[in-house]
Amino acid sequence: MILIDGKKAAAELRQELKHEVTELKVKYNKVPGLTVILIGDLTPSQIYVRNKEKSANEVGLKSEVIKYPDSVEEKTVLEKIEELNKDETVSGILVQLPLPKHIDKQKVIETILPSKDVDGFHPMNVGNLSSGYESSVPCTPLGCYLLIKKVEPNLNGKKAVIVGRSNLNGKPMTQLLLKENCTVTITHSKTKDLKAECLEADIIVAAVGIPELVKGDWVKKNTIVIDVGINKTDKGIVGDVDFDEVSKNAKALTPVPGGVGPMTIACLLKNTIECFKRSQI
Ligand code: NAD
Repeated sequence: MILIDGKKAAAELRQELKHEVTELKVKYNKVPGLTVILIGDLTPSQIYVRNKEKSANEVGLKSEVIKYPDSVEEKTVLEKIEELNKDETVSGILVQLPLPKHIDKQKVIETILPSKDVDGFHPMNVGNLSSGYESSVPCTPLGCYLLIKKVEPNLNGKKAVIVGRSNLNGKPMTQLLLKENCTVTITHSKTKDLKAECLEADIIVAAVGIPELVKGDWVKKNTIVIDVGINKTDKGIVGDVDFDEVSKNAKALTPVPGGVGPMTIACLLKNTIECFKRSQI
């Protein structure tokens, strides 16, 4: 079984991006800029944002974090986004989710210029992705896609089963694999026989949020299994895939932690650089 090393893949991607930033600096005499807005003091969000900032600095991006207290008014945040939309030194804007209840998430997402939407959540980017046009792609599914391609560069005609239909993971993952000519089945909480669906798959991407949902006898031999889940349990952090069981059958499997997670941040940097390049045309 191939243990897909997300940490190593992310370090390689960051290295490539660092070279690219150096070249862009020579060509344009400026570097891509990423601005992250962090609202409130949720510990996981603070950790994510700190890691994003550290990685952005490592590849040579100009990085900035704007912090607001939980009590900040929605208007203040929207005005700041408008200001960043106009700022030529800012290539990408990310508002760390989740947001306090009094702030409308969709309004925030739609205020970010689609061309600076490094999370790929703006409806314009969602539409462009599903139409097969150029767009920012949500970072986690993009990371999964790059990991799958490392194991199997030619995905033509492969059967992929996506477990979970969230806007963040399942749906964009489906679009990315459709583009690669996979036959994609998207499953969810109302799917009748999830095991039977998974047994058809050459590729399984599990993004559910249920610890070890995907069992060993749900996976046929030679399947590539990507585990997006991050679940806190009594035995520590586990994914949505039963690692011990599935590793006996799968062709390749991502561990949790150390699989998809590290790729998510590297893909955020990649998206920032892509936004910068598109803005220079
Ligand atoms: P979500 O809650 O938005 O969506 C979960 C999806 O799973 C839903 O579409 C739902 O229909 C489906 N589902 C629920 N129960 C099911 C069942 N019994 N069978 C089949 N499908 C079922 O979740 P999300 O935001 O997509 O996140 C999923 C997981 O991925 C979570 O554990 C989250 O922490 C993790 N995550 C990881 C990263 C990363 O970087 N590795 C990034 C984002 C999310």
